[in-house]
Amino acid sequence: KKKNADQPEFLQAVTEVLDSLRPCIDANEELYRKNAILERITEPDRQIMFRVPWVDDNGQVQVNRGFRVQFNNAIGPYKGGLRLHPSVNLGIIKFLGFEQIFKNSLTTLPIGGGKGGSDFDPKGKSDREIMAFCQSFMTELSKYIGADVDVPAGDIGTGGREIGFMFGQYKRIRGSFEGVLTGKGLTYGGSLARTEATGYGLLYLTNALLKDHGIDIAGKTCIVSGAGNVAIYAIQKAHQLGAKCVTCSDSTGWIYDPEGIDVDLLKEVKEVKRARLTEYAAARPSAEYHEKKNGEHGVWNVKGDIALPCATQNELDLDDAKALVANGVISVTEGANMPTTLEATKYLQENGVLFVGGKAANAGGVATSALEMSQNSERLSWTFDEVDGKLKGIMETIYANISDAAKRYGVEGDYVAGANIAGFEKVVEAMLAQGVC
Ligand code: NDP
Repeated sequence: KKKNADQPEFLQAVTEVLDSLRPCIDANEELYRKNAILERITEPDRQIMFRVPWVDDNGQVQVNRGFRVQFNNAIGPYKGGLRLHPSVNLGIIKFLGFEQIFKNSLTTLPIGGGKGGSDFDPKGKSDREIMAFCQSFMTELSKYIGADVDVPAGDIGTGGREIGFMFGQYKRIRGSFEGVLTGKGLTYGGSLARTEATGYGLLYLTNALLKDHGIDIAGKTCIVSGAGNVAIYAIQKAHQLGAKCVTCSDSTGWIYDPEGIDVDLLKEVKEVKRARLTEYAAARPSAEYHEKKNGEHGVWNVKGDIALPCATQNELDLDDAKALVANGVISVTEGANMPTTLEATKYLQENGVLFVGGKAANAGGVATSALEMSQNSERLSWTFDEVDGKLKGIMETIYANISDAAKRYGVEGDYVAGANIAGFEKVVEAMLAQGVC
């Protein structure tokens, strides 16, 4: 704790993981202690920090900080997204990289854990400025990554446009056309269904969870936060499964639309115009727009059966959890990474809410990225249905594995523990087999 005192998000993630691994750690105490498993798994293989200079449209040189944390490659090349957001710092990237180890392990595919990004804010920048930043960022990052070494992907602020600019720069510097990034465009090695994968995967897992408890998702009301990549496709798949999503949010406000969110309109506002949700409300008579106000529950105050937090970390706190329970919510499945605080998670679990954390619930994105890597290695492209079918199978297997792991260690129904244990066991087995490294 002392070594990482200035990294609260990292400490929060490690605390959550280690607490929930307790039954597994207790059962293997001597073996883990002798091999310093916990000390090794909480220390990244390496942390790379670098200067990213670029020139803005006024001819002014700007300087951002770039990060890549290569956390653990026991079961495959490092894999994890690149976050571009002013809030990015080493602690946030470390927390995301740490969680990624277990998430990637859960996908059943051979990928290790890493994460990266920059405190660069893509909002309001011209395409040329975005390209200048991405090229500078990749000029340095290209020294540390490769198709069999470390394969970054998108995350908040890094979409298809940014991945394209970065891929182009990698290719230019290294002279090699290889699957070094995922989330690529379809004309240059991207996978069909990657855009939809995290949101769709979240719903495949939520559906499997509810089915296992004898609940039909059709006819249920969902409350969703976020209005980005994850939220949009979660809403789309929920609607395809017969549920109705009545909310979404962005960083300045949120929408309540009792008729059900119009996905095409939301896509137009967020993906094409890159505008605020006020534009959604302006074009949709049934929608109410609410400004975001500190201390208010926002979307979590809306009555619904299924909560899908899909925006950002720590967006659902204890008071929000109380509002959800009071409104009779059945399940909370996380589309975002760590959107629910530790106290809120505990409260939801203690009050009978079915809760699956992001590590398992949003693993569909990285799983499909790994499928993109497979297609790149094969130099083949699979059809949308082929990828989507594999994604569905993977999410159902993840649910079965986390449910089974929780049962094996006597914490049945605790899917947070189940996910951590199932992900951890595989990585530790590989680490032990590979000796002290
Ligand atoms: P995007 O950048 O596409 O979207 C994020 C959305 O959340 C935006 O609409 C943003 O608003 C909104 N948002 C950000 N902060 C807040 C806030 N404090 N309150 C309310 N809304 C907020 O990101 P993604 O959808 O890709 O990612 C969302 C989450 O899912 C992240 O935690 C990410 O790490 C995680 N994730 C993403 C995966 C993927 O494949 N995309 C895979 C696995 C996890 P605004 O429009 O104003 O910026």
